[in-house]
Amino acid sequence: MTSIDARRFRDRTGFVVRTIAMAVLWCLSTAGNATAQNVGPHPYRPGIDVLDYDITLDLPDRGNTIDGRAVLSIRRSAQVDTLVLDLVSLRVDSVLVNSQAVTFTRTDSLIRIPIGRIVGDSFSVAVRYRGDPKDGFIIRTDSTGRWTGFGDNWPNRARNWIPGIDHPSDKATVTWTVRAPSERTIVANGELTEVTPMPSGAGGSARTLTRWRESRPIPLYLMVIAAAPLVYYDLGRAGCGVGEFDGCVRQSVYVYPELRDYLPGPFANAPGIVRLFSELVAPFPYEKLAHLQSSTRYGGMENAGAIFYSDGAFRRRALRPGLIAHETAHQWFGDAVTEREWSHVWLSEGFATYFEKLWVERFAGDSAFKAEMRGIREQIIKAPEVASRPVIDTAQTDLMKLLNTNSYQKGGWTLHMLRALVGDSAFFRGLRSYYLANRHSTALTDDLRRAVEASSGRPLGWFFDQWLRRPGYADVTTSWRFDASQRRVVATITQGARFGAYRFPVTVAVTDASGRERRATIDVPASATATLVLPLDLDAAPRTVVFDPDVRVLGTFTAR
Ligand SMILES: [Zn+2]
Repeated sequence: MTSIDARRFRDRTGFVVRTIAMAVLWCLSTAGNATAQNVGPHPYRPGIDVLDYDITLDLPDRGNTIDGRAVLSIRRSAQVDTLVLDLVSLRVDSVLVNSQAVTFTRTDSLIRIPIGRIVGDSFSVAVRYRGDPKDGFIIRTDSTGRWTGFGDNWPNRARNWIPGIDHPSDKATVTWTVRAPSERTIVANGELTEVTPMPSGAGGSARTLTRWRESRPIPLYLMVIAAAPLVYYDLGRAGCGVGEFDGCVRQSVYVYPELRDYLPGPFANAPGIVRLFSELVAPFPYEKLAHLQSSTRYGGMENAGAIFYSDGAFRRRALRPGLIAHETAHQWFGDAVTEREWSHVWLSEGFATYFEKLWVERFAGDSAFKAEMRGIREQIIKAPEVASRPVIDTAQTDLMKLLNTNSYQKGGWTLHMLRALVGDSAFFRGLRSYYLANRHSTALTDDLRRAVEASSGRPLGWFFDQWLRRPGYADVTTSWRFDASQRRVVATITQGARFGAYRFPVTVAVTDASGRERRATIDVPASATATLVLPLDLDAAPRTVVFDPDVRVLGTFTAR
């Protein structure tokens, strides 16, 4: 996801989020629900795997009360006697296991369901529930009296309206059946499979049943519906030949009627974005891709097949194409390949950050790309959390705090340096094999490491440890002299003690006496001082020597 693009945003807890130039970083925190839990390496619900959610929701004509029925198809891989489902605060009316009513126990946030007596490893659990969701499904009535409801789950707010296993390690397919007043458009993950008019409800309004089916497994935090008077704008199937489903990706935008004339606007870029990422990685993983004006608290939220963007960006008619690229990249990284543990969230946000820049590289060129990488390097160097914590932050228990410069910008920069280290061919081959091996499943950082080790033929444990498992960046001081007898430049690289020494290749641009620029790459070892000879023959002392001209090392360079 991305943050709201606010110059200065005060959230509901009164915390002032500092101004940022590029809206990639700060997510809005509201009181409460993203609490300390489940960031560690232990399985969230050992022995339990939800395969499918079949969720039916009745939405009210007015007010906040929803009626739900969720049927979970579950596989048990160990002897588990009690199934524990997350569901915050809503009243649970009944629970059926394999269609038989059972006596369950309820806490404010959990349902405990006895399953010790069922035979076999596959079973279904049906939960009937009702109430006003505190969070997760955001119900609002706007100034013109229109009722709107939008799912907004990241990281663990789905449990406020969906009973389930609310952790990214458990992915499942989902069917949404929504019964609502007919003037609302219902959009969800997957493919639209049914729209059926119904008899009028108690409020007298005409009602419609809408059904969507997502046939690829996704985590609960990506399972959403939108229910609002949205109008549909077809972006066509310009992405033909690039989808997992029938070779085409149908894209669309849903907005409030008064924003209809804004379209396609920045979404004119959407087909090209899907095409690029399909070429770089693999076919688009879902049935369709809808882009929606919504009530998400984030600037954008990458719900599988249905990206939700902040209402404000639409109303200001200021939605950035880069935001579309970021959220679209998540469909592959984060959605199709999901981080199994929250501490590895850079596998989602770092990838989305970098792929947004790869889109800039493709469509705006190399110098624009370099400028963007330089810009986010400056953000990394200024960020206090980069100096104090590693990207893979297993000690952080507040999930919202994992959305920071480490997981976004430094994660993206780590991919950038990996590409520089192994070269474009091995880098993209490694990314593709990582993606294909873990598609519609979950992964950890070591899965990526192994894939790029295989594609490059190089051990990379040192690289991932250095950039992801310790705080900081390289603090480099450079000097050089011309050795006339060798006819070569001798460089001295000194690294500061603050974050320790790093190992990296660095390109050096040498402009010789005739004004010709030549380049060499030297491998800097992880030592406080290194003296390295540039492999370039020179007739005379060069005019200039520039370290890292292509912006490929995460660090500060000071010439002495
Ligand atoms: Zn993101």
